[in-house]
Amino acid sequence: MNKFQTEINTTLSKFPGLRIIEQNTLTALEGEILLEDGEFGGVYDSYNVRIVIDKCFPNCFPKVFELDKKIPRKPSRHVNPDESLCLGVPQQELMITRSGIKLSDFVENIVKPHLSRETFREIKGYYPHGEYSHGWKGILEYFYDQYQTDSPEDVLRILSAIINNQLPDRMSEVCVCGKNRKYRKCHRVAIDETLKLNFNYIKEMYIGLKLYLDDHNYNL
Ligand SMILES: [Zn+2]
Repeated sequence: MNKFQTEINTTLSKFPGLRIIEQNTLTALEGEILLEDGEFGGVYDSYNVRIVIDKCFPNCFPKVFELDKKIPRKPSRHVNPDESLCLGVPQQELMITRSGIKLSDFVENIVKPHLSRETFREIKGYYPHGEYSHGWKGILEYFYDQYQTDSPEDVLRILSAIINNQLPDRMSEVCVCGKNRKYRKCHRVAIDETLKLNFNYIKEMYIGLKLYLDDHNYNL
């Protein structure tokens, strides 16, 4: 049995509501995912989903479709134009799948929390705290987190230094964020994380974010 089949089997045994189906030559799992209450036990919601495992797996997320239209088909509800669920900001996906993701971990740690946030949204009318927005706003929020700042200028300064090859050679030099702190003690670790991404991708992020911020006069 190859590694992929082993992973499918592990996932099927962990999520007994799922079964394997063939979808245009790709492998897919379909069926019910139960959301259990971690604290009090019991199932508080369930979703009927199809998980399509693309060729790029395990270095990309499988596509997940919610089959009963419990989640309204609109971007504000994290549904993509192709009706797959939008499972997060692209950088997060790149980070998580860079060295491969296990299928059962994907279902447990990405799909289930996503569905549980949708249930919360349905009941309360808003998303639980910590939810990233979509599009450029979401990407900006990701970098706010990553660089521990709430200033769009800081984010652009840092990304600009990365793509223009202006990072300090020596750790004792001053950081590129604009604060008068040593690089080593300021953004070095966070920037090292960003550097793991594809260079052209970082460049696209910078250009897109700058256009987005210019459009909104940096008032967000
Ligand atoms: Zn800094």
